[in-house]
Amino acid sequence: MRIIRASRVLTGRPGETITDGEVLIDGSRIVSVGPRGSAGEAAAAAEVLDLPGHTVLPGLVDAHVHLGFDDKVDPVTRRSPESDAHLLLRMAENARKLVSAGVTTARDLGARDFLDLELRDAIEEGLAVGPHIVAATRPITITGGHCWYMGGEADDEAAIRRVARENLRAGADCLKVMASGGQMTPGAPPSWVPQYGTEQLRAVVEEAASRGKGVAAHAHAHAAIRGSVEAGVTTIEHCTFFTPSGHRYDPELVELVAASGTYVCPTVHGAFHRVRKVHGQEMLDAWLAGVASMREAGVRQIAGTDAGFAVGDVANRTDGYVGGLEVFAMAGYGNAEIIELATVLAADACGVGEVAGSLDPGKRADIIAVAGNPLERLSDLRNLALVLVSGRSVGQAGVETVTSSVG
Ligand SMILES: [Zn+2]
Repeated sequence: MRIIRASRVLTGRPGETITDGEVLIDGSRIVSVGPRGSAGEAAAAAEVLDLPGHTVLPGLVDAHVHLGFDDKVDPVTRRSPESDAHLLLRMAENARKLVSAGVTTARDLGARDFLDLELRDAIEEGLAVGPHIVAATRPITITGGHCWYMGGEADDEAAIRRVARENLRAGADCLKVMASGGQMTPGAPPSWVPQYGTEQLRAVVEEAASRGKGVAAHAHAHAAIRGSVEAGVTTIEHCTFFTPSGHRYDPELVELVAASGTYVCPTVHGAFHRVRKVHGQEMLDAWLAGVASMREAGVRQIAGTDAGFAVGDVANRTDGYVGGLEVFAMAGYGNAEIIELATVLAADACGVGEVAGSLDPGKRADIIAVAGNPLERLSDLRNLALVLVSGRSVGQAGVETVTSSVG
């Protein structure tokens, strides 16, 4: 048993701040959360960690990462010069960086050769250091479509169901579908072009639901966003309302997303300011205004960084998570709301809300402690004093690698 005491304990839900609080942990689970002394008799035998001036809160959740992004695949030979063995090492390094930034659960939304499952299981075994991983494996996409090189090409409904079932058979925790094109794949449809219609998206949702899993739909185009809502996906990724002439927010469609309760992960990351400089102020500000208008309409947005992708020559690294949360603040979110969308809401959207995302008895001891008070200064989330993943302490923030682990 361990007891962590701090000046503040946040459960993750807005308005639930315990001043001078304590969390009692038994192995990998939380036993109790309350004010100092609330653990009662059990505390006598527990090892005590006292953190005055600190805030204890749930480990952060990144709902959209690519720990093993590799787009160097030759379209004819369908091979990459990077071996699976090398890629898996790179993924392990990315996982270590991610957890060192306080992320204790990450949903990997696209990897090749089921390597995300290998890494997920290795972390659970204690063989590698990283967050709990919710793995989508191969994204379902049209032949030659967005991220086709990850191995999930399927054009008609039968093929879509086949790829979905193969992913689930291999052990996928959720499915990812590319409802629209994207910017990153040469020769694929651009972002504003839908790749699948509502019926095809519904086939993906049905396959996932038959195993109790959710679906993440990558959707930039208006028709792809609408189709994703109609099909009943769990989360819409990006949701940029992109058209050939830039971001065009459609209030009626935003209302539809809000009313459906579908989660939106706008993939906000720490490289925002650098991308804004390189790719133009006007376009990025129009995008940010969209995140703000979704907030005003009541859309349930969640934190996810798309880490692993390079945006042009700007690397979106796995340690930029808090920088992404600061972009939510620029879109009008208050700090308590941001902590909620980074913990409680993101965990629920990733399908792990029962076991993670808040400090509650019975849940995994996925806990961080930071010096200061992130309710007042969001940047205090960088002052990590403690990271526990299922009660296991992660303390490698001082180790630096030489090469970039971004794709
Ligand atoms: Zn992505």
